[in-house]
Amino acid sequence: SNANFFETLKAAYSNAFDKPCLSLPNGRSFTYGDIDALSAKMAGALLATGAKPGDRITVQVEKSAENIALYLGAMRAGLIYVPLNTAYTPEEVQYFLSDAKPAIFVCSPENYAALAPAAKKARLKKLFTLGAEGNGSLPDTASSISPFKRCCSRTETDTAVILYTSGTTGRSKGAMLTHGNLRSNAETLNTLWDFTHHDVLLHALPVFHIHGLFVALHTAMLSACEILFLPKFDVCEILSQLPKSSVMMGVPTFYTRLLANVNFTKTVCESVRLFISGSAPLTTETFKAFETRTGHKILERYGMSEAGMIASNPLNGERVAGTVGYPLPKVSIRISGEAPSEVEIKGPNVFAGYWEKPDKTKEVFTKDLWFRTGDIGTLSDDGRLTLVGREKDLIISGGFNIYPVEIEQVINALSGVAESAVIGVPHPDMGEGVVAILVEENSGVTDEALSQAVSKLAKFKRPRRFIRLRTLPRNAMGKVQKQALRETYKNIYR
Ligand code: ATP
Ligand code: MG
Repeated sequence: SNANFFETLKAAYSNAFDKPCLSLPNGRSFTYGDIDALSAKMAGALLATGAKPGDRITVQVEKSAENIALYLGAMRAGLIYVPLNTAYTPEEVQYFLSDAKPAIFVCSPENYAALAPAAKKARLKKLFTLGAEGNGSLPDTASSISPFKRCCSRTETDTAVILYTSGTTGRSKGAMLTHGNLRSNAETLNTLWDFTHHDVLLHALPVFHIHGLFVALHTAMLSACEILFLPKFDVCEILSQLPKSSVMMGVPTFYTRLLANVNFTKTVCESVRLFISGSAPLTTETFKAFETRTGHKILERYGMSEAGMIASNPLNGERVAGTVGYPLPKVSIRISGEAPSEVEIKGPNVFAGYWEKPDKTKEVFTKDLWFRTGDIGTLSDDGRLTLVGREKDLIISGGFNIYPVEIEQVINALSGVAESAVIGVPHPDMGEGVVAILVEENSGVTDEALSQAVSKLAKFKRPRRFIRLRTLPRNAMGKVQKQALRETYKNIYR
C-alpha cells in the first residue's frame, strides 16, 4: 500500500467532495472536490517540468487556496515541499535555494524580477509564479496540462516536507518530515481535540509554518471540515468570522490583539467550542483575561518544526495556565537532568534529521536516540510539562542558572505592564547580567514598582536595568526575538 500522506487526506475527504473545504472572506469557496481537482492539475504541471519524486519544490508565495492546492499537488506528485516565510528577502531566499537545491521554485509574480537572479544561480528545472489571487504562470500551465490524478507511491520514511525552523535562536535549519511523521501527528491531533465533520476551523495563520500548514490544515482536513481561510490575521475579519466558527487556532499575539478590542465579547464566541494556542508562550495574564472575557480557557499546546506537536493541555480535563499539558499519545517526554533541564522526546512525530546536516542532526539526538528539543522544562508528578525557556535563552549569572520566564511572570503580573522579555547580556563580574525589557500599558509602571516586585526573587535573579519599548520585536509567529534584543543591549553593563 501507498504511505504517501496525501492518500490519507484524500481518503478522509473522498466522501465530501461537495463540501466547502476553503472558504475565503471575499466569498469565494473551494469544495473538497475543487481542491482535489486543482491539486491534480498542480501535480501535472510540476511533473511536466521533468521533476522526479524526491526532488524538492521550494515555494515562497502569499497565502491562498491555490497555495494549498500546490502543497497537496506537490505531495501527490511525490515531490518534497519546501515552504519559505514570505518575509524572507531575496538574499535570504538565495541561501534557502542553495541549501535545498530544488528542481522547481515558485514565487509571487511581484517578486519575480527581484528573485530571478537567485533562481538562475539555483539551476532550477523551472521557475513558476503564483499570486495571491490564484494568478501566475503555475496556474496557467496547470490549467492547460493533463492533470496527475494518481498519487505517487511513497514509503513511511520518505521525506514529504522540509520545514525550515523559524530561526529564533540562529540560522534556520531544514527539518525533514516524513509521510509517517505527518500522518501520526495529524491523526493524533484530530482525535485528541475531537474534530468531527461539523467543525468549522477559523484559519488566520501563515501556511509556510508548521502551525498553519500541519496543525491547522491537516487536523481539519482529516474530518473534512470547512476551513474559513483568511489571508492574514485581521481583528475585524476575525470578529466577523468567529460567529461561523467552532475552532480557532492561533499564536498568543492573536489572543492579545483580540482582547485589546472592545468588540471582542462572549457573544461573538458563542459558536466556538475550542480556542487553541501555540508557537510561543501564552502568558497567564492572557489566559485569565481571555477566560474572564469569554468564559473559554485557551487550550495551549507545544510543538516545533522538528517534531510536530509534542504536548497538549487536555480537551476534557483541566487546562492549566503556564503549562503545555501532557505528552501526546505515543510521544514520550523526559527531562534530561535535575529539573528544570532540557526536554527530550521520542515518538513517531520526531523528524528524520536536518537536511544535509548530518553533524547537526547527530548533535540533537542523545546516545539512546531521544531528540533534544532545546527547550527547558519540568514535569509534574502526573506528567504535565511546563516550559521555562529555551536553552539558548538561559541566563547564567555568577554561576547560577536563571530562567527568564520566572522573572517575566513577576513583571507581567504588575499593573501597567503589558508584556516583558528578560535576557542575559555580558557583564564584567557576573558573566551575564539580567536585563528586563517591557512594554507598558495604561498609565505604565515606575522603576521603583519594578524593583519592588522583583525583590521577592533571589538577588542574583533580579534585573538591574529596565528598558521600556513600544513593542517587543517578534517574528510572523509571534515569537519574541531575544537574540535581537541581546544584540541591541549587549553593552549595557560594560
Ligand atoms: P530555531 O529552531 O530556528 O531557533 P524556532 O525553534 O523558534 O527557531 P520553530 O520550530 O518554529 O522554530 O518553533 C519551535 C519552538 O517554539 C519550540 O522549541 C518552543 O521553544 C517554542 N514553542 C512552541 N510552542 C510553545 C508553547 N506553547 N510555549 C512556549 N514555547 C513554545
Ligand atoms: Mg528550534
